[in-house]
Amino acid sequence: MQYGSLRDKFKGWPVAGKALKISLRELYKSASQLKKNPHQNKNRIDDKTLKEFEAYAYRLGISKIGYTKVNPDFIFKGFEILYPNAMVLGMEMDKDKMKTNPSDASTKEIWRAYSNLGIAVNKLAAWIRARGYNCHPSPAIGGDVMITAVAQDAHLGYVGKNGLLITEEFGPSLRLAAVFLDIENLPLKQDGDNPHRWIRDFCDVCNKCVETCPGKAIYKETKILEDGYPQFIDREQCAPHFSKNCSQCISSCPFIHGRYQNIKTAFIQE
Ligand code: SF4
Ligand code: SF4
Repeated sequence: MQYGSLRDKFKGWPVAGKALKISLRELYKSASQLKKNPHQNKNRIDDKTLKEFEAYAYRLGISKIGYTKVNPDFIFKGFEILYPNAMVLGMEMDKDKMKTNPSDASTKEIWRAYSNLGIAVNKLAAWIRARGYNCHPSPAIGGDVMITAVAQDAHLGYVGKNGLLITEEFGPSLRLAAVFLDIENLPLKQDGDNPHRWIRDFCDVCNKCVETCPGKAIYKETKILEDGYPQFIDREQCAPHFSKNCSQCISSCPFIHGRYQNIKTAFIQE
């Protein structure tokens, strides 16, 4: 079972501490409260209610919101999502803490974001259900979809060679989660006209994460799998380092310094 296997996987990860317990508790809660969906066939939302919903998300610590129809190819094998549209939520991780990695401070910051996102998706689920809508909250750990790909479709940023979503405001220093909804009139985006697409071309001249990754886990030439989708990281090569607090792929990326527009201007003029 999803909850049990995650609990076993992270058992004994002392730095995560209380945040790990909260993340697992919220993961369990998001699944156990699906039965609270009102099933009223309410699938349109007015602008005022959507704005209030988003304002509540920002009060819960969410830094960035986007919407997309979930590409079924991005749902993990053996998982399902109950509703087709995603409200994608990004929570910033403190860049100064992330720059200290590998360190307890950066690992604690990652787990703070995981646990706070778990709390946020469940509070958002309760808020929207109370207004008659169905939803399926999907926390940052134990999620149901390839969340970086879904966030890219929602135009929150673009997935870089490090396999992380790179955003204009926060670079790769962001954790992601989603709330799946059957509301039909959300401002949905799709990948086609993503304004951050240039990032992938920039990655080909940058390669900083490839060079600094201690596990040599980031492919210089991103692998394209049989299904046509990219694979950025060799997970087996990464795992021993990740379990020792490595997140060099975040701290080495030039976008962590918040110079998105400068990098874009310089790159496009070259
Ligand atoms: S966590 Fe460390 S080992 Fe894994 S991909 Fe990132 S930099 Fe490489
Ligand atoms: S470090 Fe460079 S190559 Fe790696 S993801 Fe960031 S921009 Fe792309």
